[in-house]
Amino acid sequence: MNQIRMIAEEMIRSRFAVALTGAGISTASGIPDFRGPSGIWKTFDPSLFHISYFMKDPMNSWKLFAEKMYDAIKKAKPNISHYALSRLEEMEIIKGVITQNIDDLHRKANTKEVIELHGNINFSVCTQCGRRFNIEESIKEVKANKVPLCPYCGGLVKPDVVFFGEPLSSETLRRAYDFASRSDLFLVLGSSLSVSPANQLPIVAKSNGAKLVIINAGPTEFDPYADIRVEGRVEEVFPKICKLVEEMIASKSGICDYD
Ligand code: NAD
Repeated sequence: MNQIRMIAEEMIRSRFAVALTGAGISTASGIPDFRGPSGIWKTFDPSLFHISYFMKDPMNSWKLFAEKMYDAIKKAKPNISHYALSRLEEMEIIKGVITQNIDDLHRKANTKEVIELHGNINFSVCTQCGRRFNIEESIKEVKANKVPLCPYCGGLVKPDVVFFGEPLSSETLRRAYDFASRSDLFLVLGSSLSVSPANQLPIVAKSNGAKLVIINAGPTEFDPYADIRVEGRVEEVFPKICKLVEEMIASKSGICDYD
């Protein structure tokens, strides 16, 4: 039996399937990943996205974020894989999507249960009082050469995305662990699984009895633990699985009709 059919069958059998997505699901939307062959680290030094660099030189860090990341991410649209996940949620097969991405593309594709481990590009946050703002307001200030400051407490405002060296929100992490431990099928789509603690989630799922499926172009750190490992581009593989699931369930057309 081929891997696509095996995954489709596992999805149909599952009662609580959960997906973990990484930067690889969004490369087809034109957003480069970090570590792939055309990854962001080929152009930027990762230390520029460290919280200590931001605190030392917030203006430079904001400019880098605004000019090199924000515009590219903001104009991106969901691709076929984001829509496939959303349809599978609609079909009540996928119960939640945990993402390492900050690009908001799962929400744009209308997935309802999205857990964003590393924040969301649409917001900025005060490093002192924790108030959140529409990031457009902060970007406007940056473009006028002003470091964004909190209008309530005067604290330094930063993009509300997790920089290297920053902890994740404990509530977000608790929800992610909860979904992973309740899952009976855990799908990893487009992640190198090299960023912690996100990369612990497949292990949490697996140790609670879930089947682990990894679809990625290139190796991941957890390939040896996968029950089914597909080497390939998510946007080529995953819609085929969705289509087959749909055909197997109801032989209705339209729901995952991507051909
Ligand atoms: P990563 O860059 O470490 O890994 C991405 C993986 O996806 C790589 O193994 C790459 O070979 C693979 N890949 C690339 N295109 C693919 C495709 N079309 N199909 C299948 N696989 C593909 O990214 P990560 O694992 O998500 O974690 C690193 C960090 O990157 C996270 O913290 C995340 O917040 C951040 N990030 C997010 C975005 C985004 O929001 N879109 C973009 C870049 C980085």
